[in-house]
Amino acid sequence: MNIADLPRVRLALLPSPIEELPRLSGHLGGPRLLMKRDDYTGLGLGGNKLRELEFLLADAVRQGADTVVTTGGVQSNHSRLTAAAARRLGLESALLLTGADPPPARCQGNLLLDRLFGAEIHLSATRDLDEAQSQLEALACDLRRRGRRPYVVPVGGYSGLGVVSYALAMMETVTQANEMGVVLHRIALACGTGVTMAGLVLGARLLGLHTAIHGFSVSRDRDLLRSRMLAVMDEAAGLLGVRERFAPEDLDIDDAFIGEGYGIPTPAGVEAMTLLARLEGTVLDPAYTGKAMGALIDRVRSGAWRAGENVLFLHTGGAPAVFAYEDLFAAAGDSGPAG
Ligand SMILES: *Cc1c(COP(=O)(O)O)cnc(C)c1O
Repeated sequence: MNIADLPRVRLALLPSPIEELPRLSGHLGGPRLLMKRDDYTGLGLGGNKLRELEFLLADAVRQGADTVVTTGGVQSNHSRLTAAAARRLGLESALLLTGADPPPARCQGNLLLDRLFGAEIHLSATRDLDEAQSQLEALACDLRRRGRRPYVVPVGGYSGLGVVSYALAMMETVTQANEMGVVLHRIALACGTGVTMAGLVLGARLLGLHTAIHGFSVSRDRDLLRSRMLAVMDEAAGLLGVRERFAPEDLDIDDAFIGEGYGIPTPAGVEAMTLLARLEGTVLDPAYTGKAMGALIDRVRSGAWRAGENVLFLHTGGAPAVFAYEDLFAAAGDSGPAG
């Protein structure tokens, strides 16, 4: 099937802009750095999941659903954007928010937004993905018993349709880069499920590009992440009727920047957040974009990515989660009372 023939609803403001990062580039003294602002996709404070939801929720509408159900951590950007997108389409949402052990003491960041969007919220203590999946199915059953027609959106948008949405984003990016007269040597981004990167890699292959795409895992180890990505890339190729096949080596994943675990800030990530805020006035988050930017900075400092190269960082969103990390910046940079 042609990409243009897949059912799609419009949710995101596209194309998202590409900006130069002149002060960060100057500070690091290496490649020319650019940033594609998928945090500026608009609806519900924006983020990468909106592109995926354009296809997933078109499927929900086609199936006659009245309630969208999904799961994620308490500060899940995916859950927040699913709740917002549901409202835009006149649907209800129910969210299973995991890892709520202890239950969040304060209603902050994404959780606050979930409540503002009127999502039905179910807190769960589990941190186990399989257990979350079975609780999600139980929630969908319960909604059916209550006379609703639920549509389950996979965790993090993990699906062939999600991959397709980012293959399209790759095409959008290259068109913009061409208009700017910039050849993109590298693209760097954070990987959770890896769907976003999988789409970029598929898109680059379909376009015959030589841009290197570097994914920095924020949770899973490299081999597990790669095998999960390959499965949805096959599904996406099937949806599009193309014969592209990928091997683990086609996916350049580095899992050395995770730190202690998903959502736990690292010193390199916090340094990256601070640099971007103070040099470019740009907000990154501790769970995804901070860690990936920390990795990019490491590549430049080590000399692996050099002057003469154009490196694009994909800002995948997540800034609302910053408000749930109030201790992290409690006194950072205060200079005492003025006067
Ligand atoms: C979900 C998310 C990611 C990861 O996207 P995947 O497609 O799951 O790899 C990156 N950054 C932010 C801010 C996210 O919310």
